[in-house]
Amino acid sequence: MQLLQAWRFVTPSVLPWTLRRACEIVVDAVTGVPPRVERARDFVAANAARGNPDDVLRALDRFARDVRFLMSVGPDKGPLMAELVAPLPEGARVLELGAYCGYSAILIAKQLPPGGRLVSIELDPVSVAAARANVEYAGLADRVDIIEGASTDVIATLAEPFDLVFLDHWKDLYKTDLQLLERQGVLRAGSTVVADNVGKVFGPTAYLEYVRGCGRYDCEHREATIEYSTIPDAVEIAVFRGT
Ligand code: SAM
Ligand code: MG
Repeated sequence: MQLLQAWRFVTPSVLPWTLRRACEIVVDAVTGVPPRVERARDFVAANAARGNPDDVLRALDRFARDVRFLMSVGPDKGPLMAELVAPLPEGARVLELGAYCGYSAILIAKQLPPGGRLVSIELDPVSVAAARANVEYAGLADRVDIIEGASTDVIATLAEPFDLVFLDHWKDLYKTDLQLLERQGVLRAGSTVVADNVGKVFGPTAYLEYVRGCGRYDCEHREATIEYSTIPDAVEIAVFRGT
């Protein structure tokens, strides 16, 4: 399935970007450097002021542009995240699927209202450690829980509803994990589900068809670009109407 979808990354418009990313992977493998998220964590510690979330985000942006690409949501979508987090009520709960090195966790957590919390689920233990370190370095550890595990398993343990959900893990899981969230009863009328990277390159078509066609969401499509590039991408904002 993943292999069948790989053709998206070899189309003429995306090929130079794909080749650059592939070269980075080969060079890192040959030179035997530590995992990228660990290098990004060390770069943050060396280049950002402790306790300053904006400085941590700037350091991660510099690393992604100058050292190695990071699949973080990136600075271009920062204003969109701010727009979505700003109206959340006191004590709001946000769920993120896919923490990676903690960029979007920091972006969301720094804007949470008083008493707000972010729960972020991440499969890869090395990324979990890097995300926790970066969130802690940014001074936001008191409002962020990063849970290690597969989204599908962890969703089955969630009990309290979320006001905002950020889908940013593997794209072929968006639809089934959203359906799990519905069945688990952790969405309520007005909960906003934001899906990153729904443009043509990544193309989670099944997710878009479901969220637009099932009749339970009011959807808005926002044009964007793939992080740290000019390649077109998009974000889907879906507000749950309730069951
Ligand atoms: N949201 C992050 C940000 O903007 O900083 C970027 C997340 S990155 C695009 C995707 C992450 O999802 C990876 O770190 C990957 O390990 C994680 N992931 C993939 N499948 C997952 C799953 N089933 N459950 C939890 N995390 C998963
Ligand atoms: Mg993304």
